[in-house]
Amino acid sequence: MSDISHILGMTSCAETCQGDLLPAPGIAPAADPERSRRYGRARFLLCLTEFGVLVGVLALLTLTGAARALLGFCATPGEPLWLQHLAYLVMIGVLTRAALFPVQLLNEFWLEHRFGLSFETFPAWFWQWLCRSALFGVVVAALLLPVADTLRWWPYLFPAWCVVFLLVRPFLLHTLEQRLLNCFYPVRFLRNETFTVPGLGKTTLPVYEVQVSHRTRRAEARIQLRGKRSAIYVTDTLIEAFSDGEERIVIAHEFGHLYDREHLESRTAAGVAQAQRKLMLGSVQVLAGALALLSMQFLAPRVGLAEIHDLAGFPLLAGLTLALATAISPLLYAEARQDERDADCYALAVTGDVENYVSVMHKLRQMNLEDTDSSAWSRLFFDTHPSYAERIRLALEYRRRMKPKTKPPAFRGWRHVQRHGRR
Ligand SMILES: [Zn+2]
Repeated sequence: MSDISHILGMTSCAETCQGDLLPAPGIAPAADPERSRRYGRARFLLCLTEFGVLVGVLALLTLTGAARALLGFCATPGEPLWLQHLAYLVMIGVLTRAALFPVQLLNEFWLEHRFGLSFETFPAWFWQWLCRSALFGVVVAALLLPVADTLRWWPYLFPAWCVVFLLVRPFLLHTLEQRLLNCFYPVRFLRNETFTVPGLGKTTLPVYEVQVSHRTRRAEARIQLRGKRSAIYVTDTLIEAFSDGEERIVIAHEFGHLYDREHLESRTAAGVAQAQRKLMLGSVQVLAGALALLSMQFLAPRVGLAEIHDLAGFPLLAGLTLALATAISPLLYAEARQDERDADCYALAVTGDVENYVSVMHKLRQMNLEDTDSSAWSRLFFDTHPSYAERIRLALEYRRRMKPKTKPPAFRGWRHVQRHGRR
């Protein structure tokens, strides 16, 4: 199922399979494979580094005694305990964001400029980074405060807090992040689109255009599935570069996510099984919190912590939870790729337009410089979409299946033709 960060154009293709997947005449040429490969590799390494820095800094804050020093610094006599803890959590957040700044500067600003994907100035990027840090810093500190305060009463509430976090996360993403992004990327109503969705019948959704061309040349599309308030968002870069037929494929793909949720995952055996797998994987994420807590029980006396609920160990507990939750991300990404394949199949079936589908994949690959040769590691930990080659094969397979089944009449030899001709 797509989420707020849904991007349609995550593509990649091994060099060996390019020969039979060339675009039809008139379609934009494929991106420079070497350039895309270098970009994909650099982005993968920077994302990995960012995650390593995040977990490493959280662990080091506890292991070096810096967290205990911060706790002492925030212990102002006369102030309520919760306020002291809130100040402590905010300082942990500020230090972590400060440590992440150089990697995020390289990943989000330098790399995008280096490969010609972004046009935004450093002050514009920095202002957006500051706003994001402030918003999420406040929200995360507010969420973690009850967690930190209840640890000393009963540490085993921690996994339950992980469940609360998983439930609150969609609200944070869909509401707060969206409102913040609207400040930087203006949104306007474009038009309504109607498709027939099995199980729902004729369905109309509003399509909004998100203005991003003043900052980037990336093209993206996504659907927000929120019942009657569901809507599709496409970037102005996509509207500018795509023909009407190509836009129709993109919109049909987004309707495919609605079809996946409302029909496949509730009315078909394979879809119901997938929905159950996703639910189970969500529950396993909660286990990460429980495992982190058990690890802390073992580690606490060895790293100078008085008790498992010693707040100086809180950054290490958070780092362990993040690392363990990431361990099951390959399974979650595999399910996300299945959702994308289902949406692609719907787009092909409802439009029957293989040529524009292939054209969309080529243009997205070219505009977003997506990984030319997605490594196994990238596929395990970052790829939410099938590779470029997979998506093209899907289209070729559809075209082969849809070929007319009735064979032309068998050739019965020249004698018959000549005889027929003479009559
Ligand atoms: Zn999608």
